[in-house]
Amino acid sequence: MRPNSIPGPGSGDQVIVIGGGVSGALTAARLVDAGFQVTVLEKAYIGNGASSRSAACIRAQFTVKETILGMAYSTDWYCNFMEHLPHPGDYYKPVITQNGYLFLHERADKTHPWCREAAVMEWHAAQKDVQLQQEMGVPTEILSASQVHARWPHILEDQIIGATWCPTDGFLDHDAIYHQGFAYAQAHGAQLHQKHEVVASKTRGGRIRSVITGDGSTFEGDWFINASNAWAPRLSPLLGGMDLLIEPQKRYLYFMTPNAPIMSNEEWRQLPMTIFGNCKRRGAYCRPEGDKLMIGWGHPTQPETEFADEDQDVIRNGFGPSENGLHNLGYAALQEIRDFAPTLGDCGGIKHATCGFYDVTPDHNPYIGMDTQLENLVHVCGFSGHGLMHAPVTAALVEAIITGKIGPQGQVYLPAPFDQHPLDLRRFDPNWEKRISIPERNVL
Ligand SMILES: Cc1cc2nc3c(=O)[nH]c(=O)nc-3n(C[C@H](O)[C@H](O)[C@H](O)COP(=O)(O)OP(=O)(O)OC[C@H]3O[C@@H](n4cnc5c(N)ncnc54)[C@H](O)[C@@H]3O)c2cc1C
Repeated sequence: MRPNSIPGPGSGDQVIVIGGGVSGALTAARLVDAGFQVTVLEKAYIGNGASSRSAACIRAQFTVKETILGMAYSTDWYCNFMEHLPHPGDYYKPVITQNGYLFLHERADKTHPWCREAAVMEWHAAQKDVQLQQEMGVPTEILSASQVHARWPHILEDQIIGATWCPTDGFLDHDAIYHQGFAYAQAHGAQLHQKHEVVASKTRGGRIRSVITGDGSTFEGDWFINASNAWAPRLSPLLGGMDLLIEPQKRYLYFMTPNAPIMSNEEWRQLPMTIFGNCKRRGAYCRPEGDKLMIGWGHPTQPETEFADEDQDVIRNGFGPSENGLHNLGYAALQEIRDFAPTLGDCGGIKHATCGFYDVTPDHNPYIGMDTQLENLVHVCGFSGHGLMHAPVTAALVEAIITGKIGPQGQVYLPAPFDQHPLDLRRFDPNWEKRISIPERNVL
């Protein structure tokens, strides 16, 4: 870790959070609880970015210790959402649906020829990952093909060698999270300024003194949090900060309505988030979204570094819901699903697509740490499609950074019962080049 990346405490209590998504919301809420004076600046309106466009899934089935523990903490935090962010008078509905995550691993002889070797390796690696997840207290299990089929009869037993299954994984209510996060922060003294785009900063002695918004207003602070996600690599240099290796990449979600029921309502409502094959060029996924099926698939898209806000919703050629044919990604994802679950893959047509930007880092792990040029700028970005599930632990790490509650080797302890292992903050350091050699698997 860089010697200057662990700041000392007592550097002042005025915090400016830039960005009105889940990361900004939960960070603001956490910091008001810790006694900070918080101001949030949002260029448009809350939820203008990826937070309102997300598939909103959450899982602790990861391959890196920090992420597993962090996501176990986030899951628990979301399960106790209203205890963390009570807001008198509000209608309460849970923000997490724990239908579980089911990673299907296919038989080498059943997959595409170019996936065969990878399928074998991925299955071995997945079983080791389950061991690590269990050691971190996550209740992931390995299921045999027959166990999977007995439980979810629409999945072909013959197609798979087994699966990993974590019943506490699931999906989130993304809009409720940032609305409630900001409402709580405001009720506890935070100021939220929408339509305030940060366009410049005034710096002195290696610190930001103030930021300036498009209308000419100036906001002074002791700490500045870059929670601007896909805009983060543009914002950082505007503030005088470091270059961030983040590419805004478009990701699409497709929504299918079954023509006729293929299972009972109850079974449909309880369908897990399912990932169909785990090796490269497989990995289409789906989960229920009311009476629809939400479908997605990781796929290469050109980075759109200078995107405008409106571009977030622009569906590029080959990605539209109505273009049937193999060049259409949604249709191709359905074909993939059909290999594993024909009744699901054949039950209807895709009617609707939405999209938004991932903020992708080279190793698909986020940047949560101090800037190299400015000693009071903290970056929380580069979530690479995992920022919603990350937001509670992101907020906890920001608090640790600005209060200095970090061990000499970058250790941060989450609250009990997640304090059995420290999180190594270096894992998230935007300037720690070694992290790039530790690729994250199971990228969606
Ligand atoms: C299709 C899709 C599927 C996804 N699926 C999942 C999933 O299953 N699980 C999961 O955990 N995550 C998922 N994600 C990712 C997740 O949605 C994001 O990581 C998360 O919402 C990021 O939240 P954020 O608050 O950091 O950023 P955002 O919600 O993008 O908010 C950033 C905000 O910063 C504001 N801003 C930008 N520049 C400035 C400026 N100069 N001044 C002031 N304000 C500024 C923007 O207007 C925006 O509102 C998905 C994303 C997409 C697009």
